[in-house]
Amino acid sequence: MNAAPADQIRLLDLQALDSRLDQLAHRSSTLPEHADIQQRSSDLTELRSLTVAAETQLSDTRRELVKAEQDVDQVRTRAARNQQRMDSGAVGSAKDLANLQHEVGALAKRQSDLEDVVLEIMERVETGQARVSEMTARRDDAQHSLAEAETRRDAAQTEIDAEAEKVTRERAAVAAVIPADLLKLYTRLRETQGGTGAARLYQRRCEGCRVEFATADLRTIRAAAPDEVVRCENCSRILIRTADSGL
Ligand SMILES: [Zn+2]
Repeated sequence: MNAAPADQIRLLDLQALDSRLDQLAHRSSTLPEHADIQQRSSDLTELRSLTVAAETQLSDTRRELVKAEQDVDQVRTRAARNQQRMDSGAVGSAKDLANLQHEVGALAKRQSDLEDVVLEIMERVETGQARVSEMTARRDDAQHSLAEAETRRDAAQTEIDAEAEKVTRERAAVAAVIPADLLKLYTRLRETQGGTGAARLYQRRCEGCRVEFATADLRTIRAAAPDEVVRCENCSRILIRTADSGL
């Protein structure tokens, strides 16, 4: 293949721009913010479910409290009714009075036990409220710090996108003046040779694979016409000759 030396040199500019685009794409996919966001998202998911669990538990305990308070009220009402009957003097027989007195005593004991239960549940309600407050605060913090990490990622990405856009424009301008067959060869080599299709021959060395050429190989390269497209014997990349090639 033949191409004007100036077009061959342009391949180096194109290569530099393509390498820069590759670097930017790599930077974009490996931003530390990605891992950070993933961690914070999973923290947030966990805290959300812990908050819901704490709220559910609290509302269960509150229902339990209502029920226990109703139990106390029932016993209290019954005791009051008995007391009223005793006070009214309507209970005539001594036996009935003794029975009633016995029941009043039992109800007082029952009421006291149920009130202890109410107190115990109230304590659990308090603990549950504290737990809900703590979980809610931690969930809100996690939400906030996730949003901050996303803002940081977006800022970094915007910066990368802006540079990539600029480099892409420059690349299009350079590619537009390179002959189609040379560009095609370069593109194919770039795909198969890890992103580098054209390399400078610098001080007897291929800058694509770093191999230093033997004298005989250099002699062959030196003999090639300036418009001949020379390839590296070792990595088959397009070798670009410059004043610093050491030929
Ligand atoms: Zn090479």
